[in-house]
Order: sequence, then structure tokens, then C-alpha cells
Amino acid sequence: MVDHFLLVCYPVQSHINPLLNLACRLVHAGAYVTFSTSIAAHKRMFPASSMLDFPFNDPHISHLIYFPYSDGYDDGNNETKQQFNYFLETRDMCRCSLRSIASAPSIDGRPAITFIIYTIMIPWVSEVAAELGLPMALLWTQPATLFSIYYHYFHGGYKELIASNCDDQSYSLQLPGVSPISIRDLPSYLVPKPELDKFKEVFLGLFEEMFLNERTTAGFHEIVLVNSFHDLEHGVFTSIDAKLNVIPIGPLLPSSSIDGGILPENIVKETNDVKAYMEFLNRWPANSVIYLSFGSISFMKKEQNTEFSLALRDSGRPYLWVVRGAKEGVEVNENVEKGTGLLISWCSQVDVLSHSAVGCFVTHCGWNSTLESIASGVPMIGLPQWSDQSTNVELVDGTWKNGVKAKVGEDGVLRSSELCRCLETVMGDGERGNEIRENAKMWKEKASMSVMDGGSSDLNLINFIKDIAKST
Ligand code: UDP
Repeated sequence: MVDHFLLVCYPVQSHINPLLNLACRLVHAGAYVTFSTSIAAHKRMFPASSMLDFPFNDPHISHLIYFPYSDGYDDGNNETKQQFNYFLETRDMCRCSLRSIASAPSIDGRPAITFIIYTIMIPWVSEVAAELGLPMALLWTQPATLFSIYYHYFHGGYKELIASNCDDQSYSLQLPGVSPISIRDLPSYLVPKPELDKFKEVFLGLFEEMFLNERTTAGFHEIVLVNSFHDLEHGVFTSIDAKLNVIPIGPLLPSSSIDGGILPENIVKETNDVKAYMEFLNRWPANSVIYLSFGSISFMKKEQNTEFSLALRDSGRPYLWVVRGAKEGVEVNENVEKGTGLLISWCSQVDVLSHSAVGCFVTHCGWNSTLESIASGVPMIGLPQWSDQSTNVELVDGTWKNGVKAKVGEDGVLRSSELCRCLETVMGDGERGNEIRENAKMWKEKASMSVMDGGSSDLNLINFIKDIAKST
């Protein structure tokens, strides 16, 4: 029997992208796929659907199915808190929708759903799957290291250890398969960070639910697919308890969908003009351009944009800068006029990172951005904002050594002098720069080997699909 996967996504770009790419691979393997997310996320994805490497017209893809909730983007309100509250408020409604989709005898003439794959932050999906007796897997959209951290936090007594040492933020934790990590570098939800406390309650609650609910994936009776690859986090993959069934299948690329939700008009105009930024990159020699972008959620404050502007002017290097939202503090007219810099409000990041002209990525180290940079061999300068990003940047700087962590001031702002120093380290001729660039090249090769035919992630995915086919 041909399997029919229902893919359910927490509707943010960083979950949509890898899940869409997983959908492509499942369809390629001959399965049926139904992809579901929120109405608003769908609106954001489609203005530039031509940019998506997604087989929407393939007979094995069912139309997208929407959950009847708003995610706060609908009314143009980008108050982060509002975007996240809907999960709690509309959960029962979503559960109902999911139940009727997942138990339908057929969907658009395709067979009934046989398997559910869902991303993190929506633990109610696994409750519904369990109720209906459907097998399921979680797609973990952060590094495996983070899975290990959360797992040990909820199951291994680390909660108490962190609580009793949180006054000493440099206190180092030793987790199986993970390099020693200081409390300050743990995901932001686990450490006291007053500026992020309003999100902490919601998110930590969702993680807790995932990791402690016996009926959900965190009960670990199912499979955890990870958007990472074995070589990158072999310590974690080899030390994590085999019964947890944690399987690397990444990097799940290309991810070229689009966030049209924040500034719909501008973004649609600019992203349709893909050529403008690709043509800009075409003008520069290999590894010469600085690419700055901070994902789909974070906005930089005025003071930070001013410091970026100064650093870009002083560095004298060409740059492509994605500025989302208001351009407050952005002062680079002089450079833009001279043609050495380009400001845009969105781009197809995987295309940009894989362009040979790009020599450095100044990033918030969101997991997709980090993995896309790794897969393209581009060294990073990390400026983490929240969630897993503070841990990811430590992995880049200290473990994979394919980039550096930028030091911010006590006010959380990265000064232009420090950014210039980082740029010189990463792009200059010094020993450290050479080492970083060599490592970036090495990781690119390993990433590509893992997904090519017969590579570790490729085989893992094939075996996963075969095992399901045997059991359904
Ligand atoms: N992205 C993009 N164009 C942009 C900015 C971001 O295509 O101008 C994509 C990027 O390639 C990545 C996703 O949006 O796949 C952002 O995910 P990430 O995990 O890096 O950060 P988050 O958005 O969750 O903060």
C-alpha cells in the first residue's frame, strides 16, 4: 500500500521550509503527501510560489489543508506575543480539524492518511494521532544538541542543576555527547533573561508538554526526525538513548519559500525582482560580499542598525543586507549610491548563500539559517537573539569552528568596532580566518555527502519510509 503522509506545521517560516523539503522527498519516494498549516502562513507562502521548489502540481500532493486559526499576521500586527497566543487559544478548534482530516476515508481522491509528521510546538497533534491510532513522527527543527538539552532538562535532573546555578551564568553543564556548555549559552527559555520572560512561559510550557506527555512523541514511543546530519552532531547521535529513535535526515534543503506577511506589498515587489540581488552578487568576486540577515521573526532595533551601518561603511566591503520592517537607524545611503551595498526586505536566502560572491553571513543563528550557511560553505558571524540561537552560535564558534560569535555590549548591542573586528577575522588573511574558511568548506562537503544517494541522511530517510511501508 502507498503511504499517505499528513504533514502538520507550526506556521512559521523556519518550520515550513524544512517540512516542505521533507514533503518533496516523500513525494519523490512515491508517497502521497498532504501538507497543512494555517491560512495566514499559506498566504505568506504563495505570493512567491514560483520561488518554491515544491511540486504543488504533482498528483501525489494533495491541496494544502488549512487550520482555521489566525496567527496574528492576518491583521498586519506583528506583536510577537499575539502571534504565539493563538496556539493556546485555538487549540481545541485545531484538534477538531485535525481529527476530521486524519480520519477521512479519502482526501481529494487520494487514500486515507496513514502517517502523521509534525513539527515542534504543536504537541496536540500527537495527542490526536494517538487517539486515532495513527503512527507518527516529530520533525525536530533545531540541532540534535538542543533535543538532548531539553531531554535532559526535563528527564535528567538538569532543571534543578540549572536553577541552583543560575546566578553563575558561566557554570558549565556536561551533557552526554555535547561539549561543556555554560548556563548563559543554553536556550533562552531555560535561563532567566528578563527581556524574554514573556515568551518563556508559553514556549517552555509547550516544550514541557512535548517532553513529558506520555502520549506524545516526547514519550518517545515514536520517531524523532532531525534536520541535521550525523557527522555534524555525531556525539549527540551516538550518545542519545537508542530507544528515543532520534534519526538525522538533513540538511532539508532547499528552503526557498517566502515570508510575505510582514510587508506584503514591498516584499512581493522586491522578491519578484529576484534578479536585482542576484545581479548585484554577480558583480563581485568570490567570497567578497557580506550578507546580513536575521531570519523571519527577529527585528533589529534602531541602535543596532546604526552600528551595522557604521561597520559596513568602515569595512569597505560590498554587502547585501536584508532589513525587515522599518529601516530605522539604517544609514548607508552613501554606500548604496556608490553601488557597494544593496538593501532588500526579503530574498531567497538559499540562492544568496549558494552564490560564490558571498564570503560571510552575519546571522542570528536561527537553525535554518545556520544549516543553510553550513550547506553552502559560508562562514558565519553570529549575533543570537533568543530560543536555540545562543546555543547554535556556540556550536558554530566552539565546536564546528566555521564562524565566530560576536560580543555584544551590556545593552545587547553589537558595536561597529566589534563587527569590523569579526569581519576581519572571518574574511581577512589571518590564520583564524583561513581555519574558519577551511572548516566551512569541509562542513559543506560533509553536508552534501550526507544527502546524496547513499549518504547517511539519505539512507536514514529511505529506511524510515521502508519501515513505515512494512508496518502500515
Ligand atoms: N529566509 C529567507 N529570506 C530572508 C530571510 C529568511 O528565505 O530574507 C528564510 C531562511 O532561508 C530560513 C528561514 O527563512 O530558511 C528562517 O529560519 P531561521 O531558522 O533561520 O530563523 P527564524 O526565522 O526562525 O528566526
